[in-house]
Amino acid sequence: MVGHTLDHVRQAKWDEPLIFELHRPGIVGHLFPGAEASIVSEVGPLDSLIPPEMRRSSPPALPEVSEPRIVRHFTRLSQMNFSVTSGTYPLGSCTMKYNPAVDEFCAALPGFAMLHPLQDPATTQGALELMWELEQWLAEITGMDAVTLQPAAGAHGEWTGVMMVRAYHEHVTGESGQRDEILIPDSAHGTNPASAAMAGYKVVVIPSSEEGLVDLDALKSVAGPHTAGLMLTNPNTIGVFEKDIKEVAGVVHDAGGLLYYDGANLNAIMGVVRPGDMGFDLVHINLHKTMSTPHGGGGPGAGPVGVKEGLAEFLPVPRVTRRDDGTFDLDYDHPKSIGKVKSFYGNFGVLVRAYAYIYALGGPGLKRTSELAVLNANYVAHHVSRIPGLSLPFSKDVPRMHECVISASGLKEETGVTAMDIAKRLLDFGVHAPTVYFPLIVDEALMIEPTESETREELDYLIGVLQEISREAHEQPDVVRGAPYYAAIRRLDEYRAAHPKTLTLSWRAYRRQQERAEGQD
Ligand SMILES: *Cc1c(COP(=O)(O)O)cnc(C)c1O
Repeated sequence: MVGHTLDHVRQAKWDEPLIFELHRPGIVGHLFPGAEASIVSEVGPLDSLIPPEMRRSSPPALPEVSEPRIVRHFTRLSQMNFSVTSGTYPLGSCTMKYNPAVDEFCAALPGFAMLHPLQDPATTQGALELMWELEQWLAEITGMDAVTLQPAAGAHGEWTGVMMVRAYHEHVTGESGQRDEILIPDSAHGTNPASAAMAGYKVVVIPSSEEGLVDLDALKSVAGPHTAGLMLTNPNTIGVFEKDIKEVAGVVHDAGGLLYYDGANLNAIMGVVRPGDMGFDLVHINLHKTMSTPHGGGGPGAGPVGVKEGLAEFLPVPRVTRRDDGTFDLDYDHPKSIGKVKSFYGNFGVLVRAYAYIYALGGPGLKRTSELAVLNANYVAHHVSRIPGLSLPFSKDVPRMHECVISASGLKEETGVTAMDIAKRLLDFGVHAPTVYFPLIVDEALMIEPTESETREELDYLIGVLQEISREAHEQPDVVRGAPYYAAIRRLDEYRAAHPKTLTLSWRAYRRQQERAEGQD
């Protein structure tokens, strides 16, 4: 197998204080010569611009730090972090593909970046046109008739979609009282049952079949007069396409329910198949996963929702419309709309990136993207499932789509080394860990999504590292269990890292914690 030699990748390690600890009163980060003076001479003191009742009584407690120190601060933090700009990031279900820099450039263009959401639509025609066109493109890609760009994330899109399912049963079937259940397969992303429950529905779980697909008999036994709808991910969470999707759709529609498609990962199907053609009535897409927005750490996202014609009247307001004379406007006049789901019009910067991404690739480019994503996932599945201790559970002879779920249960039995240990050891070789222990239906799961943006050489490196870790596990299991050694931070305490009592997310909370500790001394 070609590829570079395996090497340990040493991360930089800085003893970097918090930005608040770098605060030195009087230090100025940036000077705008004359700006303040010119405002003062034209309109009087700056304070007079702000109505008295909206002024702060004291300035905000922001850290005062010089510009070079700020730059060093964030550069140092970035060097202790891992990102797709430093190595392969095969975090399954999250689609951590490389985001083209030109899309960042487009989002930063002043004509987009400096807009104010309260501007008169007459002055934001370009932005509205971009949103309108993006809606058309997403409708085309998903096979839907109308789209909202408002939801800020995948989970938010799901909730928006389920609220429209509710509106449909209220206004169209008149059975919203009786239809109080949403059906969800046991392999689903955790946000699906959460969204359905938040929208007030009971969640009915459908078990997976031996092949890891929706169990049709189980579906038939629960679909009925209480069914409001079904939420489904396809390709499903183990990366396999639900081959019986037409039949699944038929069962749910015959029972009077709607079909919701979790399209968070559209990476396998763009330009190949469309949820609308598979019988789905609603779909959300994670633009931040599939269409180029950096999205580690929960940054801004966008979860547009597409619907079939019969559901369009329930879409959130305002809707972007094109008038007969070719100009664009925001339209609030939809009495059956579920209302607003997000302040203003969604995360506009994410929409610009998605627009630029689709514009650059075009239809054939999107299709090629999906073909390569699928090819890469199958290449990895083929080679990794042949590594001692690793295997490909469910539907062995069925091709994977954009990701593959590998089980390390064999390795755990043979050597005691777990999926978590493998994930940590990968970091020492400069590869980000895959998603682990998800989906729950696979023991010791490693969910690998290489994406189309990795080359054959990078994939061979990833496979080579996994072979090496398997060898280490059999020969010196303690080495793998002690990893990572070369990352900026050694193994975290998984419990304390996520526990509300020890998790400190703000400077104020950190200070309170310190004061409490001092009080106890
Ligand atoms: C990521 C993901 C979601 C949730 O998307 P967020 O933007 O994180 O809210 C939902 N379903 C699937 C299948 C996903 O992979």
